[in-house]
Amino acid sequence: MSNVFQPNKPENLPPNSTSEKRGVPFDYVQAMLIVLGATLAGSIVDTFVTLDPPNLVMFYLLAVVIIALRFGYGPAVMAAVMSVVLFNFFFIPPQLTFHVADAQYLLTFSGLLVAGMVIANLTSRAQNQRTMAQSRERETAQLYSLSRQLSATVDAQIILRAILEHTHQTFHCEVAILLMQNDVLRLSMVTEHFEFDDLSLAKARHAQKTGKMVGIPMNAAGIRTYFFPLMTAHRVIGVMGIRLFNAITPEQQRLLEAFSAQSALAIEAALLGEEAQQARLLREKERLQNAILSSISHDLRTPLVSITGTLSSLRENDAYYDAGARRDLLDGAFFEAERLNRLVGNLLDMSRLEAGSLKLKVELYDLQEIIGVARSQLKERLNGRLRVDLPEDLPMFPVDLVLFAQVMVNLLDNALKYSPPDSPIDICARKVDESIIIEIADRGIGIPDEELPRIFTKFYRASSAKGYGGSGLGLSICQGIVEAHGGTISAEHRQGGGTCFIIKLPSTVNA
Ligand code: ADP
Repeated sequence: MSNVFQPNKPENLPPNSTSEKRGVPFDYVQAMLIVLGATLAGSIVDTFVTLDPPNLVMFYLLAVVIIALRFGYGPAVMAAVMSVVLFNFFFIPPQLTFHVADAQYLLTFSGLLVAGMVIANLTSRAQNQRTMAQSRERETAQLYSLSRQLSATVDAQIILRAILEHTHQTFHCEVAILLMQNDVLRLSMVTEHFEFDDLSLAKARHAQKTGKMVGIPMNAAGIRTYFFPLMTAHRVIGVMGIRLFNAITPEQQRLLEAFSAQSALAIEAALLGEEAQQARLLREKERLQNAILSSISHDLRTPLVSITGTLSSLRENDAYYDAGARRDLLDGAFFEAERLNRLVGNLLDMSRLEAGSLKLKVELYDLQEIIGVARSQLKERLNGRLRVDLPEDLPMFPVDLVLFAQVMVNLLDNALKYSPPDSPIDICARKVDESIIIEIADRGIGIPDEELPRIFTKFYRASSAKGYGGSGLGLSICQGIVEAHGGTISAEHRQGGGTCFIIKLPSTVNA
C-alpha cells in the first residue's frame, strides 16, 4: 500500500530559473528606454557644453554596459545598433537627418558599434557566469538542506516523507516515490495530487530498468512527468517521479539527479538498517525462546525425575523400606509434585495474563484470611517461620482471593527459597490514605542493587539466585496480578540484610 502524503505549501524559497525569467519583450522595451535616456542626457550636456560629437559616444557605451548587465546579450546588441542610429540622427551634422556630411563619422559609428558589441558580449558573459555561480550555490544549499534532513533519522518512512516534502518545496511539483519490493516496483509514497496511472507505472518501470531519466510528454492538462532512477552504487532501488507544468531546465535536471542520488543512498541505508534490526530481533527472540524452553524444561524435569524415582523405588523395592522411610520418600515426592503444580499454575497464569483473559472476582477480604489461604498451600514448608503483625483496625480491602493468594504464595515461596532454613519471614501491613501497604520481608541472600528494577521482568533471574532452582516467572506474575488490582509492587533491601517486597493496593473498589 502506498502512502499519500500531503506536503506543506512551498515556502518562499529562492525562485528557480524558470520563474526567474522575466518577459523578454519587456527587457527590450526597457533597453530602448535606456538608450533614449542616454540620448537625452547627451543632448542636455551638448546644450550646456559644446562637445565634439564623438565624446557623446560615452553616454551610449555606458547605456550598453547597463543594459548588458541587467538584460543580457540580446537587448545589449539591440542597444548598440540603436545607439548608432540615434547618435547619427541627433548629434551628427546635419542633425535630425540620417545623412552623414563628414565621412570620418562613419569610423565613429563603426567604433561605437564594435565597442558596443564587445561590451555586450563580455558583460553578459560575466553576468551569465555570476548567474550560474548563484544557481550552483543555490543547488548546493538545497542539496545540503536535503542531506541534513535525511541524516537526521534512520526511519525509512520519515526519510521518504522528507524527500517528498523537500522535492515538492524546491521544485513546486508533485512527487512520487516507488521502491523495489521483492523485485517488483511499488508505489511507496506519493504527494496528494500526483495521479498515478498505468502509463506512469510503465515509464517508471522503464526508468528503473534502464537507470536513466524517462519523461512523459505534456498531457492535455499541460502537465509533464519525469521519472528519475534512485540509483545506489550497486543497483536501482526505485524511482522518483515528479509532475509539473514547465519542462524542466538542464539546471533542474541536474539538481533532481543529485536529489535522487542522495535520496537513494539514504533510503538504502534506512532499509538495510531495518533489515539488520529485524534480523537482530529475530535472533534475540530465538535466543530467548531457547533459554525459556531450556529453563522451563529443566524446572519441569527435576520434580518429575524425583517423583518418578520415588515411585519406581517404592514399586520395585517396597520390601526394603520400613514405614518411616516410605513416609519420607512419599513426602519428598509430594513436595516435588506441589512444586510442579505451582510451576504449571504459574505458566497458566502467565499465559492468561498475557492473553488479557484474567478476570478478577473482586470482593472485600481480610488480610488474615488471604494469608491463611497462602499458608494452607505452603503447609509445613513454612514450619513456624512466618511472623504476621497486622494492626487491629486494618480494614478489609477488595481483591480476587484466589489470585491475590497466589501473589502471597509466590512471595512466600521465594522468601523460603532464598533465605536460611530457620530465619523468620515477616508480614506486616498498614493503611496509608486510600491504600493498603503490605510488606513481606526475609533475612535471605538479598538482591544486587543494579538488578532490583529487573527482577519483575518475565524469566529474569538475579545473579544471586545461581544454584537455586526457579523459572523467573513468579514475580512477573505477582506484578501482573497486583497491577490488575490497580496496585503496585516493588522490592528493596531490608535493613539488617534480606529483601522486602512492598505491595500497595487501593483500599476501596475503584469506580
Ligand atoms: P524464580 O523462579 O527464579 O524465583 P521469580 O520471578 O520468583 O523467579 O524471582 C525472580 C528473581 O528475583 C529470582 O530469580 C531471584 O534472583 C530474585 N528474588 C526473588 N525473590 C527473592 C528473595 N526473597 N530474596 C532474594 N532474591 C529474590
